[in-house]
Amino acid sequence: MTAALRFDPIRLPPECEVLRQEVRAFLADEIAAGTFDPHKPQREDSDAPEFSRRVGERGWLGMTWPKQYGGHERSFLERYVVTEEMRVANAPTRRFFVADRQSGPVLLKYAPEHIKMDILPRICRGEVCFSIGMSEPNSGSDLFAAKTKATKTDGGWLINGSKIWTTSAHIADYMIAIFRTSPSTKENRRHGLTQFLVNMKKPGITVNPIAQITGQYEFNEVVFTDHFVPDDHMLGELDGAWKQATSELAYERSGPERFLETYYVLTELVRAVGPKPDTRSAEGIGRLVAQLHTMRRMSVSVAGMLQAGREPVVEASIVKDIGTIWEQQLPHRVRELAAFVDADASNHATLDEQLAFAIKTAPKLTIQGGTTEVLRGIIARGLGLR
Ligand SMILES: Cc1cc2nc3c(=O)[nH]c(=O)nc-3n(C[C@H](O)[C@H](O)[C@H](O)COP(=O)(O)OP(=O)(O)OC[C@H]3O[C@@H](n4cnc5c(N)ncnc54)[C@H](O)[C@@H]3O)c2cc1C
Repeated sequence: MTAALRFDPIRLPPECEVLRQEVRAFLADEIAAGTFDPHKPQREDSDAPEFSRRVGERGWLGMTWPKQYGGHERSFLERYVVTEEMRVANAPTRRFFVADRQSGPVLLKYAPEHIKMDILPRICRGEVCFSIGMSEPNSGSDLFAAKTKATKTDGGWLINGSKIWTTSAHIADYMIAIFRTSPSTKENRRHGLTQFLVNMKKPGITVNPIAQITGQYEFNEVVFTDHFVPDDHMLGELDGAWKQATSELAYERSGPERFLETYYVLTELVRAVGPKPDTRSAEGIGRLVAQLHTMRRMSVSVAGMLQAGREPVVEASIVKDIGTIWEQQLPHRVRELAAFVDADASNHATLDEQLAFAIKTAPKLTIQGGTTEVLRGIIARGLGLR
């Protein structure tokens, strides 16, 4: 039987519009002050700790979390608006984004009280950076084949092995990682993995950079050699990380960041064709904007479901599947349409430069956060088709 699939028609409430204007004004001030250049997506390289603190001061980190942990008890829809505006402006969110999106919610659910009281307010102030330690050299899609081992010792665990493709590990204060604490069982091959909070500043961790075709420095190999993790840094159930990973992925897969990573080429194209585009450009841009609008409605709907306390894993996977394929194809569509742009357009050079960068970025978009093929497996299972 086919399971229910829901995309409730959620509209952003009026308070979101007020917030949107506040975020836009804040970002305009930051751009004017030279914090970042909205026309230079390459800036993702740069870590911006002071910007991160200022975002925290505005109350835009930990927006949905309880006040006792420094949060602001606002809605997922309000958080959605902040994320959307930051992405569209190409703001440097690297330092705080993962912590705010998914590490904080994991800590809220599974960390002991004293750790929540210590770390969550610092995330809300924009002071700490988190990384995600899931993939290993021989287990990416097949997360549950992870081998990096946590061995019990006095007062904690010793970690040995390595993680790979770890975004931001070179600047991260913490990682939330899964390690093998027991062998898998015949009945359940997902059994035996446990989630831990890792302090990246403690000994026994080597972070090796991985070069990217774009010239960016985003991710790393992380090698653990007898790295000690105290007992109270174990998150949730021993050997039960597989039960916990699912809801984390719903946070990771549905936000506007899953279709806006190459959005800047579309705005640059719109600027280049000007207010009176020829028919071919108008038709091409219209089609892209219509697709974008539909995805955005779906993504807002998922934010609404998170707000309602649900775990929309299948719906989030659909948003990521459709969204990342769209943002991957966008630079190619824009390149085709750019062929008709007047060679004298004032931003022609910027458009060319951005296209060159976006085309090099595009291949990774359907891999990070789970590949298209794997997402389709999850969707098929969720729909009762496999
Ligand atoms: C930019 C970027 C940032 C990343 N950041 C992080 C991070 O911070 N932390 C982290 O832990 N990981 C991170 N990753 C890793 C990412 O999650 C993995 O690359 C991804 O899950 C795929 O795993 P893999 O590379 O081992 O490929 P594999 O799993 O080996 O897959 C290879 C190919 O086989 C296909 N395939 C695999 N299994 C199946 C199946 N069951 N059915 C059908 N097809 C299948 C895949 O779709 C893919 O095309 C990042 C990746 C990128 C590109």
